[in-house]
Amino acid sequence: MPHPTTTPTPRICPNCDGFATVAITTGSRDRHGHLPTLTIDCRACNGQGTAPARRVREGARV
Ligand SMILES: [Zn+2]
Repeated sequence: MPHPTTTPTPRICPNCDGFATVAITTGSRDRHGHLPTLTIDCRACNGQGTAPARRVREGARV
């Protein structure tokens, strides 16, 4: 299978598995019955969803 010879594809952040930004609930509804959520960025990749370039061999993937 041919690969495009452009920049290498960034690796998915192993810490958030690519879901860099997640919404978490505060656990309690407000008086309007809504469930407020907080948007949190992955600290490992700063919300990028990709891991910093590392010399990881392809065979290391599980
Ligand atoms: Zn991440």
